[in-house]
Amino acid sequence: MQERGTILLVDDQSEDRAQLRQLLSPEYEIVEAADGNEGIQMMETYCLQLAAVLLDVDMPGLDGFEVLQIARQKGWLRAVPVFLIAEERAEEVLERGYELGAMDILTKPFWPQVVRRRVDSMVELYRHRYELEQAVEEQTARIREQDARLRKTNKSIVETLSAAIGFRNVNSGVHVRRMRQITRLLLTDVMEHFPEYQLTEELVKRVAELSILHDIGKIGVPDAILNKSGRLTEDEYECMKSHTIYGGELAERMDFQTGEEGRQYCYEICRHHHERWDGSGYPDGLKGEEIPIWVQAVSIADAYEALVSRRVYKAAYTANEAVQMILYGECGAFNPKILESLRRISPQLVKEVAGEAEWEEKHAPFSLREEMLPPIAKPPESVTSSEEAQLLFDLEQEKYRIIAELSEDMIFTYNALFDSMEFSEKFCKVFQVPAYVNAYSKRPLSERTFYPEEYEELLKKRRGLTWAVPEMEMDLRLPLPSGSRPWFHLVIHAINDKNDRTRELGYVGKLTNINRIKKEATEWQKRANTDALTQLYNRAGAHILFEELRQESRQTPLELTVAFMDIDRFKTLNDTLGHEAGDQILTAFGHSVRRLFRPDDIVSRFGGDEFLVVMKGMGERTFAENKLGQLCRQTVKIACVDSPLEISSSIGVAFFPKDGAEFDDLLRKADKALYASKRAGRGRISFYEDQ
Ligand code: GH3
Ligand code: MG
Repeated sequence: MQERGTILLVDDQSEDRAQLRQLLSPEYEIVEAADGNEGIQMMETYCLQLAAVLLDVDMPGLDGFEVLQIARQKGWLRAVPVFLIAEERAEEVLERGYELGAMDILTKPFWPQVVRRRVDSMVELYRHRYELEQAVEEQTARIREQDARLRKTNKSIVETLSAAIGFRNVNSGVHVRRMRQITRLLLTDVMEHFPEYQLTEELVKRVAELSILHDIGKIGVPDAILNKSGRLTEDEYECMKSHTIYGGELAERMDFQTGEEGRQYCYEICRHHHERWDGSGYPDGLKGEEIPIWVQAVSIADAYEALVSRRVYKAAYTANEAVQMILYGECGAFNPKILESLRRISPQLVKEVAGEAEWEEKHAPFSLREEMLPPIAKPPESVTSSEEAQLLFDLEQEKYRIIAELSEDMIFTYNALFDSMEFSEKFCKVFQVPAYVNAYSKRPLSERTFYPEEYEELLKKRRGLTWAVPEMEMDLRLPLPSGSRPWFHLVIHAINDKNDRTRELGYVGKLTNINRIKKEATEWQKRANTDALTQLYNRAGAHILFEELRQESRQTPLELTVAFMDIDRFKTLNDTLGHEAGDQILTAFGHSVRRLFRPDDIVSRFGGDEFLVVMKGMGERTFAENKLGQLCRQTVKIACVDSPLEISSSIGVAFFPKDGAEFDDLLRKADKALYASKRAGRGRISFYEDQ
């Protein structure tokens, strides 16, 4: 195929086709149809690949006008310019042809220069427009997708963790801290004494943070099994064991800003923390070094935690007892090396970590239930349900905080019992607020923080949160200490007491900076509504602004003047001076139209040499005549032509709301008036009401 593309000739006269083929074939691939029906078929086949269609008006069967009409109905004219071929420049042919959407009309006999030039410039024009549209479309799609992804990511963390609120294996934030401490102590010792594992401080730190999520899969285990105080049946035990598999799946779905590696560690921890050195563990029966060393550390921490925690069915062991039990294999087999590390760190464990365990022991009766695994229990009777809810909430806060550190998101949590608000590290850094604020509801949120309408929306959505609909989200602008107000996406998830669902315990919120995406979207929106050549609004832009004015007119009655203008004999200018000069004329003309009107009037290039102006409050005819009259005849100066050019244009005017209330209706009417101006000799103004 030739570089410039393919041209379809539809003409019943083979001599005409031969002549046109000869004229255009040096540059274009030519395909031919001998009548209208064949023409339609070929357009159907080639449509978007065609650079242009040259269509004879007089043909037996479907004539050129009918073919044009079909092409227009099928929407092909947006993609391909169609030229009509007529015997002579009859007014009636021109009128009908343009009305049906022909881009140009070629008359016989063909002047090679003229035909080539017109076809070339139209093909060029279409290609430009197509490329621009394509770019805008691609960008818009990209931004939409980005936005959707952002919302999804934003949600998935909150969702995953909110779902985890049902997770009741552990009943205090203390557990979370200890889990982390023990994992860190153990792995640090392994790093120092067993270089073969090639552990780094970075990895140790990360695994210790992630260790607290090891049991997250328990959200997938039914309450009845989780809370059962008696011995689990075989089936129930199987179901309980599935928390490792489900936990692994959850980890895979979570978003870690630390990337794939973070996800991988988390996955391994969740899935394999019940594997044992001798292969007796679950779910995969991994053996020996098949179990990553960091997972082995989490397993020991988990076993230790189970032993030192007080349960309804047992008191807590002391730290010393717990270490001895693990060393003697009462919690299953472990790697001798990691047991050596456990022995080494045990004095530290006892001293630094175990204060509470020893305290608990003194306060609780001792009775040991047989099975050690899994260590699930109902909350102790002495703890009321709201206290328990509070404890759960504490745990969740802790988890959010850690996730926040991992994902660099800005998290805040409101605790209704204490009326306190806590902000994540990142949040404090960005907004420069203290990490903890007391008597939060008593502090008036200053008007300076929010834009009034955004604040109203926030309050409304916030009040709408219930147990059944616990989550809200919105975009809003918040002030930074620097004084700027970027866009943020806000998600708030309310947490209710599970025993009294009407009672809100607090909420967890998350902010994500979406300024860059918003700005990019606005930028592309603007481009989609702007004419690339003149930088005026295009048709879509004009329509949007018109709708805004119309909206405004509902509050305060408004009169608008809609003026549609078209440069006279522009094609001749294009043909004689070249397409480049034509572009410059359009730009210069556009600028002078823009200068003539007020900034809040809408000035747009509609396409080709058509311009549309919508003026506010100028329902008066003589005023419109005076102002618009200046555009009927103008002198413009362009770079590539030495002498100034006389440009005349024809204008048609319709008034809102007198002549119509809808954009398209007003356009049609202004266009009709414009047409009258053209017929009456061009370079003048006509009003729809006179037609
Ligand atoms: P009339 O007085 O009846 O309006 O005659 P005209 O020659 O101006 O005819 P019309 O308004 O229908 O033609 C507009 C022409 O403008 C068609 C096309 O060749 C040319 N054109 C459309 N878009 C562009 C463009 O972006 N740049 C240039 N240079 N020419 C354009
Ligand atoms: Mg024109």
